Order: sequence, then structure tokens, then C-alpha cells
Amino acid sequence: MAKNLIISISGMRGIIGENLTPDIVARYGCAFGAFLKEHYREKYEKLKVCIGRDSRPSGPMLASAIISGLNSVGIDVIDLGIVTTPCVGIMLRNLSCAGGIVITASHNPIEYNGIKLLLDNGIAPPPELSEKIKKRYYDNDFDLVDSISCGKLSFNDQTDRVHIDKVISIINPHSIEEKRYKVVLDSVNGAGGRIGKTILNELGCEVIAINNEMTGIFAHTPEPTKENLVELAERVKEEQAMVGFAQDPDGDRLAIVDENGFYIGEEYTLALAAKYIFSKMQGPAAANLSTSRMIDDIAAKNGSQVIRTPVGEANVADAMIKNNCVIGGEGNGGVIDLRVGPIRDSIVGMAMVLQLMAETGKTISQLVNEIGGYYVYKTKAPADGDQAQAVIEKVKKQFPQAKLNTSDGCRLDFEDGWVHIRTSNTEPIMRIIVETVDQQAAAKYIYAISNIQQEVLA
Ligand code: MG
Repeated sequence: MAKNLIISISGMRGIIGENLTPDIVARYGCAFGAFLKEHYREKYEKLKVCIGRDSRPSGPMLASAIISGLNSVGIDVIDLGIVTTPCVGIMLRNLSCAGGIVITASHNPIEYNGIKLLLDNGIAPPPELSEKIKKRYYDNDFDLVDSISCGKLSFNDQTDRVHIDKVISIINPHSIEEKRYKVVLDSVNGAGGRIGKTILNELGCEVIAINNEMTGIFAHTPEPTKENLVELAERVKEEQAMVGFAQDPDGDRLAIVDENGFYIGEEYTLALAAKYIFSKMQGPAAANLSTSRMIDDIAAKNGSQVIRTPVGEANVADAMIKNNCVIGGEGNGGVIDLRVGPIRDSIVGMAMVLQLMAETGKTISQLVNEIGGYYVYKTKAPADGDQAQAVIEKVKKQFPQAKLNTSDGCRLDFEDGWVHIRTSNTEPIMRIIVETVDQQAAAKYIYAISNIQQEVLA
């Protein structure tokens, strides 16, 4: 297999011109199509799949390849063009498709691209089904259909409308419209620019849209972190805007800059969204094990609880559906509201944050102050699964008083904070996150873990 091509449970990711080639992708389309035919043989008579892509220049090439694969095994395809990842999850259900495909490498640099697969519920296949798709791909286990049975290709340009209407239906747009907020939106020339600008305009905002061309020529390193959003922060200050929003290239993550041009950190996106939701309703929330405790604090004030899941949006979405969660997501700026769709959605995030501002009359910095915060330390180290497990066992022994969650590596919860140690799904590394009430509290955990790491990895 070519170097760096990764086929994981969430799909396929590689480098254009090196290993993510049209023949590989067409074959992956055949395998996914054959899988869907078998998996849904009793549910659908004629199978349709909808496909969307982010704005990377390699998107159309990969789209044609995977569409060929799907058509060649008899699956009809509806091409949505350049749309955000959450849009595909929404449209596939809207159009009664058996599956969905998103062509994106999310926040990775331009040389990468990838293919994400979704089932008819809008969620990535669970591991046991992903294995089946992978096996079909490696074994060439699919039957090509004859000329008359080839799948058809059609196009649909209604995605933004459908998505925006769904988002507006869960808020009160008039209270936002009255405020006439000045907002700077940085879409990094990704797929979120068009829909982002449209909904903000419809909500009565004065929108200053930067990096809003959907060219896939990223205006800065695409991950929406502080160091990559300097332009946004400066622009918010210059324009005296009330808020700055940053989307990642496929529009599922949202980062926020406050009215002073200060990057508040992606963990606050979900916290602010949860603050809005819990001002309206009660019910459980879901978040992955690496997400800040801020959401627990916000839920607790409302008498609600947070269900913790393994890392990975499908795990969060799954828990949300099973437990009827009113809000969920991940600390990387990913907010999920099932009334819109089961995928992290920057549009949902923006709408909820503006609604919270409008209803409370408070600024982002005031709202962040109310939420409070924690000291966070993150690190990673090269380690295989056995080494990571050895570290976890020793850390558990060192802190026997901790409350444990071992559904994804190990999270140890204490009065004054928590530690999460897990292995990466895509690289041989171990990730460690420590979140505590202050830096002093973190020191004892960081010190103990780094000693253990040295012992194990020596
Ligand atoms: Mg993304």
C-alpha cells in the first residue's frame, strides 16, 4: 500500500498526486456501494448516495472518481457540489439517501484530501461496519453492473437553503436581527464561506467576510487555532465588531474571537452553545472524554448531566441519539444539535452564540467570564498501544482515588480536575490532556505522568 494513505474507521485520507489516486478512490466507491446494497437490501429498492466536497482544488477529481465507482455498481448519486460536512449529513436524510460521502481533509493542509463515509442516519459507520467496507475494498469484493443498470448522476443546489432553514427553526432570529451585530467571518477560503455569510446576513448582521472565496487556496494554516487567526483577531478590533467567527475548511468546527479581538479558545464554542441551550431546556448533554469540564458546570446549574463518550464525532452523535441529548459536541469547536443534524456544525454554533448574546445583552467576553475556565495542559508523545497502556496502568496506580472512565484510553477524574490519556487512531502517538482548576493543581499530575512516561518509554 502506498505510503501515508490512511484507511481508518472515518474513511480514507491521503496526499494528492502521491497516494490518493483516482483508481484507488473509484475502487473505494465500488466497495462502499456494494456494502450499501448488502447492508440496506431490505430497506431501499434503488439506492441513492449524496456527495459533497470542501473547496480543495482536488475535490472535483476525487468526486468524479468516487461517483464513477458508485455508478458502476448501480448506485445513483446526487452531487451537492461544494458544501460543508454537516450539510451532507442534513441533505442525505432530506433526500432519503442510503448514504453520504464528504470529500474533505478537514483542517489538514492543502496537499491532503480525504473521503468520509456516512450511513443513512448521517453518522459515520460504526467500527464493525467500517471493517466490512475496508475488507470489500482490499478484496475487490463488488460486482459491476451492466450498461442498463448503471447508476445515474444528478445535481442538487438546495443545500444551503435547507440547512439555514433548519438552523433558523431552532433559534429566535428576530431577537438577533434587532441587534444588528457587526460580525467578522473568516472561512479560510473553505466550504463554509457561502452559507456562513448568507445566514449571518439573514440574521440581520453586518458581515465582514474575509477569506470568503471557496477556492481551497487556504489563506492561512487551516486549523482554527489562535496562531492561525491573527488576521481575524486584528480585523475584529479594527472594525470594532462584536464577534469574530472562524470556520475550518469543511465548516464543522467553529472558533471565536471576542469583541476585544481576543481568541477565546475552541473549548468555549461548545460551552457557549450549551449555555444557550440550557437557558431554554433541560436534558442530558454528550461530549467526548477530552472535552473541558465547563460543559458539566453549565449542565449542573440547570440540573442536567453530561454523558462522556470516546473521542470521535460519531461516538458523540450516537450517544446523543440513544440518550435524547439536547446538545453535544467536542471541545475542538464542534457543536451538535440533533434537530439540525448529527454532525458538528459551525452554522449551528454561530446561531446559538448570537442568540445567547442577543438574549442576555452580554458580550462574548462577559459570557466567557461568567462561564469561568480551567487550566489546560496538552502534550503528545510517540508510543504504541502497549506502551500507552503501560503508562495508563501506572498512572491509575499512582492515583487510586480517581474516578475512572476507560472507554477510550483512560480518563481519571478528581475533585480539582481530570487527566485523559489515549492513543491516536491515525498515528503511533499517545495524547495526554490535563485540565484543572489552576496551574498549581495541574503540576502534580503533569509531574507524575512525565515521570511514568520516562520510565515506560525509556
Ligand atoms: Mg473539519
